[in-house]
Amino acid sequence: MSHAIGIDLGTTNTVVAAVVDGVAVTLEDEHQRRLLPSVVSFHPSGTVLVGEAARERRLIDPENTIFSIKPLIGRTFDSDEVKAARARFPFLLTEGSKNSTMVLARDVAYALPEISAFVLRRAKAIAEQALGGTVDRAVITVPANFNDLQRASTKIAGKLAGLDVLRILNEPTAAALAYGQSIAKAEKIAVYDLGGGTFDITLLDLSGNVFEVLATAGDTALGGDDIDRLLAEHLAREVMKKFNFDPTSNPVAFARLRFIAEEVKKELSSRTSVDREISGIGYTEGGVPIQMTMTITRDALDKIALPLIERTITVSRQSVEIIGLDPKDFDRVILVGGSTRMPLAATHVGKFFGQTPHLKVNPDEVVALGAAIQAHALNRSKAGSKRKSAHDQLAKAQGGGASGDNVPSSPPTANPNPANVDVPRAPGVPAGMTPEAPSPGFFQFEKAQAVITFSPPPAPPHGAGAKPPPLPQRAGQSGAPSRTSRPIEGTPAREHSVALPGPKPARRSAAPQEAVPDLELGAALDGRSGANLGAIVASTFEQPAPTAQAFARGSAIETAENAPLLIDVTPLSLRVETVGGYCDVLISANSPVPCEKARTFLTASDNQTVVFIRVAQGESSRFAENTYLGELELSGLKPAERGSVKILVTFELDADGILNVRAMDKETNRETNATMRLLGTSTDAAALSEMAARQARHVVA
Ligand code: AMP
Repeated sequence: MSHAIGIDLGTTNTVVAAVVDGVAVTLEDEHQRRLLPSVVSFHPSGTVLVGEAARERRLIDPENTIFSIKPLIGRTFDSDEVKAARARFPFLLTEGSKNSTMVLARDVAYALPEISAFVLRRAKAIAEQALGGTVDRAVITVPANFNDLQRASTKIAGKLAGLDVLRILNEPTAAALAYGQSIAKAEKIAVYDLGGGTFDITLLDLSGNVFEVLATAGDTALGGDDIDRLLAEHLAREVMKKFNFDPTSNPVAFARLRFIAEEVKKELSSRTSVDREISGIGYTEGGVPIQMTMTITRDALDKIALPLIERTITVSRQSVEIIGLDPKDFDRVILVGGSTRMPLAATHVGKFFGQTPHLKVNPDEVVALGAAIQAHALNRSKAGSKRKSAHDQLAKAQGGGASGDNVPSSPPTANPNPANVDVPRAPGVPAGMTPEAPSPGFFQFEKAQAVITFSPPPAPPHGAGAKPPPLPQRAGQSGAPSRTSRPIEGTPAREHSVALPGPKPARRSAAPQEAVPDLELGAALDGRSGANLGAIVASTFEQPAPTAQAFARGSAIETAENAPLLIDVTPLSLRVETVGGYCDVLISANSPVPCEKARTFLTASDNQTVVFIRVAQGESSRFAENTYLGELELSGLKPAERGSVKILVTFELDADGILNVRAMDKETNRETNATMRLLGTSTDAAALSEMAARQARHVVA
């Protein structure tokens, strides 16, 4: 069996880990480095440098050296985040199709998932070298607060890198998984994750090997990079005062100051004052190279960083309140992400939760370790299902019975479908708590044995088979005017010339659906299915052949005997536009995933054959204040009287937190032609093939 790895694809650094002999370990490159800078530099030779070599080129080739793009992945070109980034990055961001964001390097425009794919290719190569074998499966982590487009784009990046992405996993959940391996009793855990570009707070209930996320919140545009920028601006003001030269007006000079600022910031985590020479940023009016020594104190840095840290505490407070708990109710607070090394962050988190936060596992590596644990569990369950199917075929060929007996010696199990770990469940019902919702947590792995046995499901976290307590709605939702009983009349049916039905989403067993009022709509839908991604051609780029067992390991965590059962939530509500610029919530924030919701829509005018539905993700009742995901188009409706055509639209959030949509004509029970046009990202086969072809053109080093 090939290896499955966990990858923490960070804004600043990427970390790779794997489970080897029951131990989760981070993997080192040939220079014994465990942090791979998430920097990609397009060398004139055509080679794409990734990591430290690329980082060094930030100073000499800033226009072709791409860094910190993670918070922008899945963001449209006209989004505030991209606008702000365009002003500060020394490389050029351009607009691609569907308002997507591209980056220009050596006259070639690359989609942002392509840049991440280069990093992932290098990560894959490091893992293959370290493990001495092929690696083609991975769990990739994302900030908990990533929206649908950002998750889908990350998955595309994995595919482009030649990886079968077993799961998109939330970073804080991964961190909790890693910590949870050593926790024997039930605990409430808060994971405070402050990285280079993003902040997340995640609150979990841990009981045995069941990890249940209670709430998650965050800010995908807040992290250590912002602190670097503020400190660099502070240094620039000092330079300006002394030399009447403004380094912020010159991208190369400011890139150098940011570089210095980050170094100084890191040093100030272990010292109270740093003397730093500032040079290489330009010349005085008289043509003399600018050079000065500055003393920067931790106090000064803290003053600069305080407003940002306070923002993280505000978000933390809100998420604790959402689930009706007190900060003191948490048994353990875990710090994750490089920026939590700042004493200011640790102090404020400690004050808020009333306890000293844990830093037992290296905060840079804990996420990758958790991802590796989950990758291992999913890989084994996948391998198990393959074996099971081989077993079934063999049984059939021998005239044997059905496949019901999964593995000969297994005890009776509540899990009728061990291969499918993505089966949806009723909203509000934790995964794995019903026979319809199996999960890898039910699998018990026996070391050094090629057979998977099934153990009875673990005790539910809230009592046998019980639902978790309902989560109060987030601020903003409750204030939304209810529009569910009113017809939607604002969106007139539009003519369209092309219908582009994608591959049909894989059918899954239907979860019970909530009764919701019908909506009348002048538009319709279809779904983007994860299956679209399958259209991508296998990457054919050169990859160094894996060499022998030069196994290098960094941080290590002994994994628990039972694979973890994860119950995660979606961070953001999914909304549909209604009249007057408002929107309705279909799936609310903090709903456990996977989940699905269905609603019936009606045509709004006579003889309407096409309907459109606009979908957004976020917490505002005003549609425009949320992240616009795209538009669903449903065509081929039977011309009929207004309101007489009913379409059942099902929104399904899969275990990766990615939205799939399907639509059905209720009269005929027929799947209707429905297409979701996603904004800011290209999931169609042609665009994906182009991206794959561009990958194939470059060797990664
Ligand atoms: P991550 O995204 O988790 O890799 O975190 C990267 C961020 O952590 C970057 O902004 C780094 O500058 C920051 N960082 C790394 N080490 C330190 C340190 N010792 N003190 C303060 N910030 C750090």
